[in-house]
Amino acid sequence: MMNFKMLMKALGTSCLVLACTVYSSHSAISAETAQPSKVVEKAGEVDLGALIQEWAGEMDHVYAETVIRNKDNSNKIFERLGIKDSAFKRYVNSIKPKENPFARLVPGRLIQARLTPKGEVIAIKLFKPIDTLSEDITYFQISRSNTGKSKFVHENKTSAFTTLPVAASAYVERTLDGAAQSAKIPAGVMKQVKEQLGDSFDVKKVANGDSFNVIYERRQLDGADLGPGRLLALEFFGKDKTVEAYWFENDNFKGYFNADGESVEKTFLRMPCEARLTSTFNRVRKHPVTGRLRPHWGIDLAAPTGTPIYASSDGKIVTKRYQRRGYGYWLEINHGSGYSSIYAHMSKYAPGMKEGVQVKKGQLIGYVGRTGMVTGSHLHYELKHNGQQINPLTADLRTGEPLTGAVKQEFDLAISPIKRQLALLGKFHLAHNSNSSVSIE
Ligand SMILES: [Zn+2]
Repeated sequence: MMNFKMLMKALGTSCLVLACTVYSSHSAISAETAQPSKVVEKAGEVDLGALIQEWAGEMDHVYAETVIRNKDNSNKIFERLGIKDSAFKRYVNSIKPKENPFARLVPGRLIQARLTPKGEVIAIKLFKPIDTLSEDITYFQISRSNTGKSKFVHENKTSAFTTLPVAASAYVERTLDGAAQSAKIPAGVMKQVKEQLGDSFDVKKVANGDSFNVIYERRQLDGADLGPGRLLALEFFGKDKTVEAYWFENDNFKGYFNADGESVEKTFLRMPCEARLTSTFNRVRKHPVTGRLRPHWGIDLAAPTGTPIYASSDGKIVTKRYQRRGYGYWLEINHGSGYSSIYAHMSKYAPGMKEGVQVKKGQLIGYVGRTGMVTGSHLHYELKHNGQQINPLTADLRTGEPLTGAVKQEFDLAISPIKRQLALLGKFHLAHNSNSSVSIE
């Protein structure tokens, strides 16, 4: 396939491009399969007009993309994209403001245009932001039309995106996050890595000399980069423990498995928000406000007011209440099989949260606060089984169910290219003992 040593020599340790395809859980191709001939990035920094002229002879369309900035207006954006199309500009102005996102621009959103070499618009997309685990993306599109009275049509669309696997290797010198940063692993991917590591939020347990390899998705739609997506594989080599997790999905199964096909999927998030553990599960504790001795049946997670709180597993909201002399704003979720969880002292609930509503594992349910009887901003979290509080930090929350038969064969087939890729990363890692970002395209 390639000469590894040669490539490394040529490219150094920082970046390496591997030419190979790896299994991806979202192999869906978007409705428009046209691949971009060239992608023009950061339209503001280059003279697009000149580039477009230069390429005019070589291709029938070009892609340009930009991100909406503060105090942007549609004219500035069209100029950055290299759009020279007065009919298009007239069309945009003719769309009712209520249904026209170009009339109320939100900074940070991505816009991608497909243009003729002369700068005429073939299609333009304005994307809505997506969550790391979203399965599809919604965008507003204006495209040239051959039918109808108008030269253009506009619509809101939802598409599945295509994914590219990206691999990265990190060597811990001080902290897990530090290693991730120097290996250029995005925060959204690290959140999933930590979840797989289990007691990962206790970053101190990750020691100098530990290392890990990841493969994750980078999502694209018609050549536009939509950022990182799902973690596809993790190998963690720690002093105390080794963790491996492969994402597998078919019509009936979905989740993380070890190389033997045993589920390593945890039914519950260990911690429902990114926070620092301040008080743990304790049978006798002096209450910080009343000073009375009283057991503490949950865990306290210190985090700034406004930190998002996620449902620790799928379930139904059974209680939503305000208690001034206790839990403040709190809610309880019933997860079935005798499990329930409680989230207390919230500053506010996420929209749509009320009793009877179904929530998904990892869904935003509210925000950390300091309502009720508290000394500082934190989340009080309880996990109960058959009415009895259990310690979410130490309880074995894995399902452990193995894949068997034909599904196991399907699984083996699906992860074999990923395993090869990880083995390759391992070699690269040994040779350099340093952090590296590797994209596989
Ligand atoms: Zn508490």
